[in-house]
Amino acid sequence: MNCIFCKIITGEIPSYTIYEDEFVKVFLDINPDSNGHMLIIPKKHVLDITEIENEIWNHLLDVTKNMKSLLEEKLKIDGLTLIQNNGVIQEVKHFHLHLKPYYKEGQDLLPVEEIYNKLKEL
Ligand code: 5GP
Ligand code: ZN
Repeated sequence: MNCIFCKIITGEIPSYTIYEDEFVKVFLDINPDSNGHMLIIPKKHVLDITEIENEIWNHLLDVTKNMKSLLEEKLKIDGLTLIQNNGVIQEVKHFHLHLKPYYKEGQDLLPVEEIYNKLKEL
């Protein structure tokens, strides 16, 4: 299957991976709307909200909560928007949840690599 996100899961396409386990992978969006814009995807290829299994959705939610804490701690975000596109507005046809940080004071967009380093700092 010619799916970009499946290739990100196998490592065929590199990504700035923030977290992964048996079921999900979290990585930085290549074309972020704000600093720390992440995507959470299931490792099993499913299309959209209709196809995702409830167990995986629940797990995704747990991981999302952890990522919110990480963004608050490392990037000092003031807010967070979750978006999950379906149908014609879904560009990549592998389920993904966007986590888009919001900053009260606004922020210049930094290179994705710089954001990755900040998130990975101990
Ligand atoms: P959609 O409109 O399908 O919800 O959004 C797809 C998202 O995937 C976009 O925000 C886009 O920047 C991101 N994206 C597309 N291709 C790649 C890629 O190869 N690597 C990464 N990290 N993100 C990608
Ligand atoms: Zn896929």
